[in-house]
Amino acid sequence: MKKIQAIRGMNDLLPAETALWQHLESVIKQTLAGFGYSEIRFPIMEQTDLFKRSIGEVTDIVEKEMYTFEDRNGESLTLRPEGTASCVRACEEHGLLYNQTQRLWYMGPMFRYERPQKGRYRQFHQVGIETYGLQGPDIDAELLLLSYNLFQTLGLEHCVELQVNSLGSDEARARYRTALVDYLSERKDQLDEDSKRRLDSNPLRILDSKNEATQALLDAGPSLEDYLDEESEQHFTQLTQLLDAAGVPYQINRRLVRGLDYYSRTAFEWVTDKLGAQSAVCAGGRYDNLVAQLGGRATPAVGFAIGLERLILLLQSEGHVPESLSRPVDVYLAAVGDVQAEALKLAASIRRALPGLRLSMHCGGGSFKSQLKKADKSGAAIALILGENEAAAGEVGVKYLREDKPQETCKQSALTQLLGEF
Ligand code: ATP
Ligand code: MG
Repeated sequence: MKKIQAIRGMNDLLPAETALWQHLESVIKQTLAGFGYSEIRFPIMEQTDLFKRSIGEVTDIVEKEMYTFEDRNGESLTLRPEGTASCVRACEEHGLLYNQTQRLWYMGPMFRYERPQKGRYRQFHQVGIETYGLQGPDIDAELLLLSYNLFQTLGLEHCVELQVNSLGSDEARARYRTALVDYLSERKDQLDEDSKRRLDSNPLRILDSKNEATQALLDAGPSLEDYLDEESEQHFTQLTQLLDAAGVPYQINRRLVRGLDYYSRTAFEWVTDKLGAQSAVCAGGRYDNLVAQLGGRATPAVGFAIGLERLILLLQSEGHVPESLSRPVDVYLAAVGDVQAEALKLAASIRRALPGLRLSMHCGGGSFKSQLKKADKSGAAIALILGENEAAAGEVGVKYLREDKPQETCKQSALTQLLGEF
């Protein structure tokens, strides 16, 4: 019979990789806790309209990338391609946005029907950070500082670069869009195929084009900067001043636009040149109009999402990975002979006394020699040996597996002290 395999672009994470994932997740959680952010969780599926209305009908995500299907009632559901829309939906539904500010985060799988390749998958993971009720540039700066601190803690700050831009108000962007479309329509024959298509559907995305001729054409055309409204321009200037003050390095990229419709004013991306075409590791911006667009009261909002697979790839090639991650076990307790009950009890008392210690107890019997082999393979630094004699005497043998030290015998009552120092 043909074996059933995982869905293309949806990866299993095996034990050899999950330690690094847990490390990344815990650094992220610690950083967020240090900034006073709270976790929010929402389902991985929503009504399809939520994403259509928020992300925008003529975006890559909604046009080509969503996993949409009808449930048994004929209702159209979609696996979430991102978290912002769900976050707004959940906050509105539970009254979290009324007269208050929120600083929130979530972490979990997202789904997009894309061509799988390194750094691009159909099920991938994001940590999303969203704030509500704050309109000044100080919160934008805080978010960028937070992301910078995170890259520093991971040892990745040297291989990512922050690019920032202002998209201006809706009106400013609409005026710029008209000017851009006028300019490019007259030169349509010089555009690449993708950009020609976007000229009608989503002209601002042309700024993203990787095509050199198109970029040259844009150089000579109208610039978004010249169309910014006064307030947006001030907001942006203040943001860059705050980033300077906080010591967060950045580049202004006037061509930076985001692939989702809901952004206004601040837009940013952390990019890397280490992952080929998958250059964005973190992206976000301000979306002051989205809450109202989804039926709530106008609420200023700014947030971003980090792609965890891309950070894992960077960590594997560039970052700090604690050495202990490759060893899931500190201490291996060998139980030789008829001592299973004593071994279970001893293991339990050590774990109670030293909750941070990673202790694996041998199961399955076998000779002293075969148990020591397993101890060595486990990666443990110390093997504790409990035989029938030791058990009777209330002692345990201590063998150092990674150091050139003689084996010793220790009273079980003194073990906590010995292991605690280790
Ligand atoms: P890209 O330009 O690479 O398609 P995007 O603009 O579609 O990215 P966002 O919607 O802003 O990405 O999502 C935020 C982050 O999530 C990205 O910066 C990236 O790190 C990650 N990401 C997006 N799509 C994928 C995917 N298919 N596989 C893995 N990570 C992804
Ligand atoms: Mg994309």
